[in-house]
Amino acid sequence: MSAASPQKPKKRIPKSPPAQMGNGLAKTLLGYVRSVEYMNKSLPDPIDFDNEVARLRGTLQCANCNSEINVRNSTNFKSAIYCSEYCKQMAGTVRYVRRAMAAQRESEYEFRMGLNDRLIHMPTGGYAAQERRLSKKIRMTIFERDNNICRICRKRPAEQIDHIKGSSSDLSNLQAICVNCHRMKTNSNLRLATGKELKRILKFYEAMALRIVAANPSKACDDYERWQKTEPKLRGIRQKMINKIKQEIGGKT
Ligand SMILES: [Zn+2]
Ligand SMILES: [Zn+2]
Repeated sequence: MSAASPQKPKKRIPKSPPAQMGNGLAKTLLGYVRSVEYMNKSLPDPIDFDNEVARLRGTLQCANCNSEINVRNSTNFKSAIYCSEYCKQMAGTVRYVRRAMAAQRESEYEFRMGLNDRLIHMPTGGYAAQERRLSKKIRMTIFERDNNICRICRKRPAEQIDHIKGSSSDLSNLQAICVNCHRMKTNSNLRLATGKELKRILKFYEAMALRIVAANPSKACDDYERWQKTEPKLRGIRQKMINKIKQEIGGKT
């Protein structure tokens, strides 16, 4: 390791980085998926789904990376299933691609763009994760207010709610827009990943590719059919465990 340089890192960060332009991220991930098939890499060991779920029921380990979920963590991310937003997104993306590949949809445009959207929003390095869940009621209010027409192009039907600037969910910061305009806006806000971030991203992509290709899932959360039914139950059980721990450590009320 070389000594840390005292000056701040140079700001030479162009918008719309080559690694992320268009559907570049989806291409990169799917490239890894293909290379796993061609290069005959060894796949992660398959699990027995029921055994694995039983194990997950008895612990508070992240379903994606097995690290312990930090119950004391009072910051933004709260989940009884995953340790971080990144793990949640990663597991969701693995399932998304596995499902599409099982249906032989992997060359479809909509799938590729959808995958790219997911990868862009998968928080990496400085790209902050923001839980921006809006209630159904707020969404309805915004769509109605904007007459279901995209407020950016004013042509296409609105399909998504956009935070105009920052993460405030104040009605004045929300607008209904179409998928196309949402993608263009996201692309224009991207910055180039640093070399360090890129290395980390590619490492994750490679790990995802192995999980995607494995005929028999190596994690319970990769089994998109069974996980759908299992996850809510597991979440309920774990939430109780978490509440109990919190009561013990908190002691208040
Ligand atoms: Zn994790
Ligand atoms: Zn539009």
